[in-house]
Amino acid sequence: MYDIGIIGGGTAGMTAAIYGQRAGKRTIIIEGGAFGGQITSSPNVENYPGIASVSGSEFSMNLLDQAVKLGAETETEQVTGIRDEGPEKIIVAGEKEYPCRSVILATGVTHRHLGVPGEDRLTGSGVSYCATCDGMFFRGRDVAVVGGGSTALQDAEFLSGYCRKVYLIHRRDEFRGEDNIVKRLEKKENVEFILSAVVKEIVGEFMVEKLILNHKKTGEESELAVAGVFIAVGQIPQNDVFADIVKLDGSGFILAAEDCMTSHPGIFAAGDCRTKEVRQLTTAAADGAVAALAACRYIAG
Ligand code: NAP
Repeated sequence: MYDIGIIGGGTAGMTAAIYGQRAGKRTIIIEGGAFGGQITSSPNVENYPGIASVSGSEFSMNLLDQAVKLGAETETEQVTGIRDEGPEKIIVAGEKEYPCRSVILATGVTHRHLGVPGEDRLTGSGVSYCATCDGMFFRGRDVAVVGGGSTALQDAEFLSGYCRKVYLIHRRDEFRGEDNIVKRLEKKENVEFILSAVVKEIVGEFMVEKLILNHKKTGEESELAVAGVFIAVGQIPQNDVFADIVKLDGSGFILAAEDCMTSHPGIFAAGDCRTKEVRQLTTAAADGAVAALAACRYIAG
């Protein structure tokens, strides 16, 4: 029996494991994909207090290392649900079951798609959701980044180091992401902003060849020849399998406040998967700590 079963091995989940282990609890992190979470796609994290600059993958690997060295157990399994059996909560992953005294949901979010023709068909053939993973394939080529948040800005900055030209396409005139990155991008000769424009279609027979853009202010359409398009238009939660045990909001986020308490006693929610104002690395880490300490209090009765 585990004291704390953590579903999701991103920043929130791994921080919860660190706090759980340090409180003397037997902790397991169950992750469906690769440990590290979203931040592994960030080429450079510059807003985590105390660390001026670190790659997302190094940051997350350090976290995992720290949790494992403290004794946290890890499993790579896709969780399919949670069964409540009184004092025991059973995390179910297909045929496997993990009995736990408490559970922390730290499932994060997944990439939002544009939902335009060509996007799904050409994913992996020029359409990508991870500049750090796939940027190298476009060395010396022309690419586009879609989005106006920090991820899109960081992706554009990262790709400008490899690619001949980077078009940053955003649906508004103002960026949502950090202003200091916008200022750095403005100075780059191979970065061009295309504002108030949306991608209408991604075109290519076998690989991406061009984008069809719609310019919102004029209503005109134009074509943009690119070899790759990096889509960074935000994230969506993935909590459907927990909808029968905790309450979700209309967008699928787990209803939980700053205390990380869900509608179900003994089940906590930490990080981007819960309802919250600010989704940042720092707030994910903070949630991990809050949820783990709340789980400890719950176990103590
Ligand atoms: P985000 O902040 O939600 O930004 C999504 C962007 O995509 C917005 O600019 C949005 O436009 C645009 N968008 C949404 N749907 C669209 C559509 N259908 N078509 C075209 N554009 C669309 O997402 P994010 O950049 O992935 O960031 C998520 C969170 O992680 C944020 O809190 C961010 O600060 C944080 N983050 C932190 C770091 C770090 O280094 N610490 C790195 C990356 C991200 P509008 O602006 O018009 O809504």
